[in-house]
Amino acid sequence: MSKNLHVLASDEYEGRETGKKGQKMAAAYIADQFKLAGIPPYMENTYYQEFSLNVILPEPAEVFVERKQYTGNKDYYNYPEQTERSIETDSILFLGYGIQEDGYNDYKNMDVNDKVVMMLAGEPILKDSISLITGKKARSLWSTYAKVKLEKARESGVKVLLMVVDDVAKDLLDNKHRLESPAMKLELNNEGMFIIYISRQMANDILKKEKVETLIQKIADTKKPLHLAVKTNFEINIKNKVQKVGSENVLGYVEGSDLKEELIVITAHYDHLGVDGKIVYNGADDDGSGTVAVIELAKTFAKAKNEGHGPRRSILFMTVAGEEKGLLGSAYYVKNPIYPLENTVCDLNIDMIGRLDIKHENNSNYIYLIGSDKLSSGLHTISENANKMYTNLELDYTFNDEKDKNRFYYRSDHYNFAKKGVPVIFYFNGVHADYHKETDEVEKIDFKKMETITRLVFFTTWELANRTERIKVDSNKK
Ligand SMILES: [Zn+2]
Repeated sequence: MSKNLHVLASDEYEGRETGKKGQKMAAAYIADQFKLAGIPPYMENTYYQEFSLNVILPEPAEVFVERKQYTGNKDYYNYPEQTERSIETDSILFLGYGIQEDGYNDYKNMDVNDKVVMMLAGEPILKDSISLITGKKARSLWSTYAKVKLEKARESGVKVLLMVVDDVAKDLLDNKHRLESPAMKLELNNEGMFIIYISRQMANDILKKEKVETLIQKIADTKKPLHLAVKTNFEINIKNKVQKVGSENVLGYVEGSDLKEELIVITAHYDHLGVDGKIVYNGADDDGSGTVAVIELAKTFAKAKNEGHGPRRSILFMTVAGEEKGLLGSAYYVKNPIYPLENTVCDLNIDMIGRLDIKHENNSNYIYLIGSDKLSSGLHTISENANKMYTNLELDYTFNDEKDKNRFYYRSDHYNFAKKGVPVIFYFNGVHADYHKETDEVEKIDFKKMETITRLVFFTTWELANRTERIKVDSNKK
């Protein structure tokens, strides 16, 4: 693992950004490792599953309020999401904070479908900085994980979401890289909700007689949702350029024996963030660590097979691209599975296993497991037993809690399998100071720790592949 990671996480591989030269070099390197392990190309043809991506170049939408044009990246900002769309309306719905909770529900009796909706970022804050939602100083997911708010609005059919933020200039600085990077999509969609982040000043212009500050105060005073129907002409034009780029998942397929129609999938993403000027994001932990673990597991099962101990079920060792762009390689695979998803027993996904997080500073003998009990109690038991018998790691289930604000269950490639009803386990060491920084370097990797975790994946896979009964899907937890 050390040898391979010193290659893949070196500057020569330019941070392995999806669609770029470094990613292609990494793909070729991984395919070579499968070949060296004696794994034939799948379907006697190739190690690659190729896919094409739409690259949307960043360009602020044009926005007019009462025919007055506002300035992108000053009065408002938006991420590249859609490519061609014009929307005009004479009515905007102010939906308070856009929160749906027992006891505080902005959506109750409100029809937001197909509307242009304005809402405030964050949540109502009472005196002494107490949140109305949590009743404590701690903030709820509605503040700390903005995606929850966006998803709720999207599900409810909002057409354009005007999110009022506290400080546009600060957001522009904090999110500079993301705002200036093109978006990548498997498919273009000019119909879903479009989000614009607007300044309080711009919100005040839209609200006319009301002011954002007054509304915030009123909500805090009454502790009740507050909504307004505003008559204002609002127009937005989106026109972003699109380019095409090709990428690939790299697959090593070890065919099983008497149960070969059934498949275990082992995944890790080999793409990372690329370069920014002279800075190379080598992503040794994220997810060079998982990538080299998958290579090692592939070699081990191939060796077992050569020596007459091959798995009964087939195993697909798949390193995917496009993860950092929105789990795209795995999304493509589950849409275009090479082996039927009905026959896919589970996906074991390894994403960051080479480092320690703050909670375990002096204890390398742990791993966070996420998702193992969500769809199949059998999978959870097998995983626990494999650890008890062979590896004795401290299995930390903190992030398996659906209320955990980090929402890691939704944030790596296994989730695309889980969405399709395929049981998953996500192996993860947690984030650390070098996460998504240029300092995520191979010198900082703890290979001993990685070895133990990789053995846990190995023993779990061995049991899943060789037991007579396929594990059952017997629950559906979030
Ligand atoms: Zn990752």
